[in-house]
Amino acid sequence: MVAEPLLVRGGRLIDPANDLDEIGDLSIADGRIAAIGAVETPAQARVIDAAGLVVAPGLIDVHVHLREPGFPEKETIESGTAAAAAGGFTTIFCMPNTNPTLDSVETIARLNEEIARRAVVRVRPIAAITKGRRGAEAVNFAALAAQGVVGFSDDGDTTADSAIMRAALETSRELNVPIVVHCEDKALARGAMHEGDVSRELGLPGIPPEAEEIIIARDLMLARLTGGWLHVCHVSIGRGADLIRAAKRAGVRVTAEVMPHHLTMTDRWVAGDRTLVNVDEPPGEPGQPADANTKVNPPLRPEADAKALLAALQDGAIDLIATDHAPHAAQEKQGTPFAQAAFGLSGLEFALPLTLALVRAGHLTLSEAIAALSATPARLWNLGGGTLAPGAPADVTIFDPNERWTPTGDNLRTRSANTPLLGMTLTGRVRHTLVAGEERYRG
Ligand SMILES: [Zn+2]
Ligand SMILES: [Zn+2]
Repeated sequence: MVAEPLLVRGGRLIDPANDLDEIGDLSIADGRIAAIGAVETPAQARVIDAAGLVVAPGLIDVHVHLREPGFPEKETIESGTAAAAAGGFTTIFCMPNTNPTLDSVETIARLNEEIARRAVVRVRPIAAITKGRRGAEAVNFAALAAQGVVGFSDDGDTTADSAIMRAALETSRELNVPIVVHCEDKALARGAMHEGDVSRELGLPGIPPEAEEIIIARDLMLARLTGGWLHVCHVSIGRGADLIRAAKRAGVRVTAEVMPHHLTMTDRWVAGDRTLVNVDEPPGEPGQPADANTKVNPPLRPEADAKALLAALQDGAIDLIATDHAPHAAQEKQGTPFAQAAFGLSGLEFALPLTLALVRAGHLTLSEAIAALSATPARLWNLGGGTLAPGAPADVTIFDPNERWTPTGDNLRTRSANTPLLGMTLTGRVRHTLVAGEERYRG
């Protein structure tokens, strides 16, 4: 099916890849950007009036738990990609900690068939580093790369065996596919939240930041040793960002992501505080202490870390923003003691408003924000999108940067509303999400 011609009229066009930030039109034909600027209306084109709206390249999330195959009570391809489209994402990478694990050509091929039938945005799988994510035996990297996987990751766990990590990174250099690492020394990280004043106040078992720092350091050393491409997931500590910055300066091939929740929330949220940091927004109503919707891995950290992560995003030590969208069914969160509840936050529908709050506070330009959420991942992974340039795929997100809204369980597309943002006022909402010129979400 060929999408109808479209004219997006009078929006604020943001295209970081081409240093473009101006009011103008965008025309779309045959699933691609046809022209940009002052554009003649194509014959029979449908017109989207974008006055007052931002028109940006479709957002790209390199870290999503789609939960398929195996966990439909948490999320499905339908619900997860609908949430992605509602959040402005046109491409997502899905993590392999599924059942079965995405560790073979067969599981990837089967998932790709399901994606082709059921997804409303583009989905690119990440395969596991080790079979069953058990850490003992490496997958067949070359065969999986030939299936088009965009990374290898045992996310959810660290691959403890340094020899397997070395081999994986060596292979990544040849295949040009990154090794995507969740950095957590499991023996140190037996707690439920950040170890510090708040965990002591609440009497909850803590996770010291060193559990993350130790593995970031090891993996950077192995990247240096091998020349492989290391991508560090969900950096949550300032010292981790410092290690990555130093490694980049020394020529190590490392990229890194930070999550909106680690940029704007702190461990005080576990105590019930609902003050967003790094932004100028009114706090939400205080929540219950030890609400499992504040439990995430790596955990929410003190404000000093959130500030250091923002500085790292600004100076390029951290490359991009991803969500670590980690849906869980309500019974895995509510009614479960905090120490036993599942780790993870819903992310796809909150990344844009939280990032726009950083823009309003003056920490990022709108163009820098869109770069972190689209142009940069497109460039690093050579995805062919992430731009409004004529000829590019017409993956476009059109949003109102000023619309205020309140997330509730009911107005989200994800199957799992596990977030402490429910009931808070957020600013910035997607109006249209186009994938290859087809409207996949309208708000
Ligand atoms: Zn992880
Ligand atoms: Zn994850």
